[in-house]
Amino acid sequence: MFRTRSRQGPGTGAAAQALRLVKVTRSFGSGEGAVTALDGVTLTLARGTFTAVMGPSGSGKSTLLQCAAGLDLPDSGIVQVDGTEMTGRTEAELTRFRRARVGFVFQQYNLLDTLTVAQNTVLPLRLAGRRVDRRRAQEVLTAVGLGDRLGHRPAQLSGGQRQRVAIARALVTEPRVIFADEPTGALDTRSAREVLRLLRDAVRVHGRTVVMVTHDPVAASYADSVLFLADGRLAGRLDMPTPDTVAERMAHLGDDVAMGV
Ligand code: ADP
Ligand code: MG
Repeated sequence: MFRTRSRQGPGTGAAAQALRLVKVTRSFGSGEGAVTALDGVTLTLARGTFTAVMGPSGSGKSTLLQCAAGLDLPDSGIVQVDGTEMTGRTEAELTRFRRARVGFVFQQYNLLDTLTVAQNTVLPLRLAGRRVDRRRAQEVLTAVGLGDRLGHRPAQLSGGQRQRVAIARALVTEPRVIFADEPTGALDTRSAREVLRLLRDAVRVHGRTVVMVTHDPVAASYADSVLFLADGRLAGRLDMPTPDTVAERMAHLGDDVAMGV
């Protein structure tokens, strides 16, 4: 099963892809209680694209993101991020790769309460052993509208501001791919819009690739395309989504699965 692969994918075709999954399967538990969270997912996302992932609760969205980001390992299949194969690597190699080339944004921000906004923001640089420059924190926090909050603690910020710090932290290493799991799930409409604009600008202005799980059709409409998941399988794709077309597809997702589409 394990073959030796070169660090870069085979040829420029694979290297041009930000994310490639081939027949990725992930199960939890065993025997009667076993759950197949991902059931042979194959997909390719080009660099510089913004993709939303939608599907019912329990359809495997978070597992997909974790496996794609190298935070979890699939049972079988291939995961390539930015042309580099994630499967068959040691934990230390995966960690080093994530710190250099991947950014994360979570629903609950995951900031460290004891650190200032500036310290939280540059933490990925510190962990990667890179030079930490105060100007870099200032620059990236200014870009998310928090240039005057460097010395604050997360507890002194609103939810929307905390999530903008989390985005600054995800951007600070200039990663190739940013993964966001329900980044607007805990935010009011206005803060959500600001966060979505920042993610969209990361793609449009800075050429990053963003993959975002959401249950909100309005949030999904900020993306270039939407992938639908149902029961651990891809159940469709929608390009140039609008809130209405996304909601319509979500409503009929069960039908598509029943028809085996
Ligand atoms: P979603 O994010 O779409 O709600 P998840 O990817 O979190 O779905 O979960 C997909 C399925 O896998 C669910 O049935 C969930 O209970 C199960 N699952 C996810 N993570 C684990 C885990 N660490 N241990 C056991 N079951 C899990
Ligand atoms: Mg989830």
